[in-house]
Amino acid sequence: MNNSGFVLVLSGPSGVGKDTVISELLKKDEKIIVSVSMTTRKPRPGEVDGVNYYFVSQEEFEEKIQNGEMLEYARYGSNYYGTPKAPVYDWVSKGMTVILEIEVQGATKIKKQQPDVCTMFLMPPSFHALRTRLEGRSTETPEEIAQRLEIARGEINMATDYDYIIVNDRLENAVENILELIYRHRRHLREGTPETEEELERK
Ligand code: 5GP
Repeated sequence: MNNSGFVLVLSGPSGVGKDTVISELLKKDEKIIVSVSMTTRKPRPGEVDGVNYYFVSQEEFEEKIQNGEMLEYARYGSNYYGTPKAPVYDWVSKGMTVILEIEVQGATKIKKQQPDVCTMFLMPPSFHALRTRLEGRSTETPEEIAQRLEIARGEINMATDYDYIIVNDRLENAVENILELIYRHRRHLREGTPETEEELERK
């Protein structure tokens, strides 16, 4: 049997609900796992080192880059964010679906290096909904919210570069849609079955 492990990149603007979607996916399928990123930003209240992120200094982060330990990394706002390489390769080789919850620059880099990763963009139902959510969670200052909304505009413009766009209008729908795509991709890797509508037509 072929290995059906793969990397699933999930991007979407800050506040779109990526964390909630991912925690639902983790509950529904034990072969899904999420990569823990490294960041130089400060932990938010309730965030735990090694669970939400590995929180490191800028010097430590730059050292990891130098040593080739990062699968990808990017600057977002005034901080570095990146994916440690070793655990991702390990989980994929064990047949797991490894979710990387990363922003668009990192996603673009990975897709270029490894075209077989599956990329999904989680889209808010409207820009207004995004603003309301960011303001409602009170984890950022008004300046940070403004900066995140500014970044979000650029990110939304990049959505068409992704393999799939998922609208997060209702949580259950978004989760079901993503799960269906994950199952299809696993079948494709295991059995070589067609995956996209285009491929289906060509067969
Ligand atoms: P936050 O500060 O809200 O936790 O994350 C800010 C942004 O950084 C989000 O868009 C998130 O997807 C992205 N991000 C988190 N981890 C990584 C990573 O390892 N690599 C990249 N490129 N982006 C990341």
